[in-house]
Amino acid sequence: MKEEGIVIKSIPYKETSKIVYLYTNKGKISVRAIGSKNTKKNTFGFGESGNIVSFITTDSDFPSLTEYEIINSAYKYVNDFDSIMALGKIIEILNYIPEDSIHNKCYPFVKDILLNLDTNPKKALAIFLIKMTYNFGISPKLDSCVICNNKNIKGLSIRYGGALCSEHINESNDKIKIWTEYYKDKKKIEEYSDTNYDSLLKDLNEYYLIHANINLKL
Ligand SMILES: [Zn+2]
Repeated sequence: MKEEGIVIKSIPYKETSKIVYLYTNKGKISVRAIGSKNTKKNTFGFGESGNIVSFITTDSDFPSLTEYEIINSAYKYVNDFDSIMALGKIIEILNYIPEDSIHNKCYPFVKDILLNLDTNPKKALAIFLIKMTYNFGISPKLDSCVICNNKNIKGLSIRYGGALCSEHINESNDKIKIWTEYYKDKKKIEEYSDTNYDSLLKDLNEYYLIHANINLKL
């Protein structure tokens, strides 16, 4: 059966093979690629982290690769520091993605982000991270105050994981608008509003650290 996936990582297996971990519309899977060193059968591109590949495997519990094709190569970003950085963080998050996520909805979204990554890598990463909070069960509460449910919100608290009202916030901020748009809207990367991405990624780093215990080192 022909499948498609995003390569997360590969590890050496026996003398000439490797095990490749991929993210697919069924979740994380592992595929054995036999004879990847010193043979005519070149499986190098199949194991390159960040590549999007289509592939055919044997039908077993631990499937072996029979053929593959690269749909999108991560190699094209080699000279673009921001794209490489964003790609690395996205792959890291895919590695942690909970088993019970709705993968057949998540996979096409991640693929689209990767295909359009170089439009604006930091923006793509921010959109990815905000939407992915859903899969980790750490969605921000954006419509009303986290503490008292008051709808008169004055800003976003990273620590509280959502909106705060004038009574509960120390210092108001205008982060809610971007977070709400990035979390809820569905459009092309370039159509989302622009913001200060370094500051947004810093917030997201803190958000994932506090609420998911993942240190993205952003
Ligand atoms: Zn409140």
